Amino acid sequence: MTTSTPLVYAYLNHGRWIAECPVCHDALKVKPGFVEWTRDPDRGFLMRKGDRFVCPNRECGADHGVLQWPANREAIEALVQMRPMVNRNWVPGEDAADLIADNIDFGGAEPADLTVHD
Ligand SMILES: [Zn+2]
Repeated sequence: MTTSTPLVYAYLNHGRWIAECPVCHDALKVKPGFVEWTRDPDRGFLMRKGDRFVCPNRECGADHGVLQWPANREAIEALVQMRPMVNRNWVPGEDAADLIADNIDFGGAEPADLTVHD
């Protein structure tokens, strides 16, 4: 029997792209083309090349297929760069206008010279 698992969407947390297994909620660092494989005590986070999100939790191991990235990832990263690290967050569903409004709330300015495409 094959179990259907939901797609996983990358989100930004404190300036780090994260993917969270919706089955066991183990969360991993990711970057385009790479997914965290393990946390090595001597070498820190190890990344493996690939775009599939397979939960590394041995008791879970759910395969969620290709990790979903926002189409405007670079614009999101550019907008949150204007904030303190702790406020560099984005979740699926937030658009560029939301990020600009948040930047103004955080005391930043609207980026007049930044073209944003959703
Ligand atoms: Zn899992």
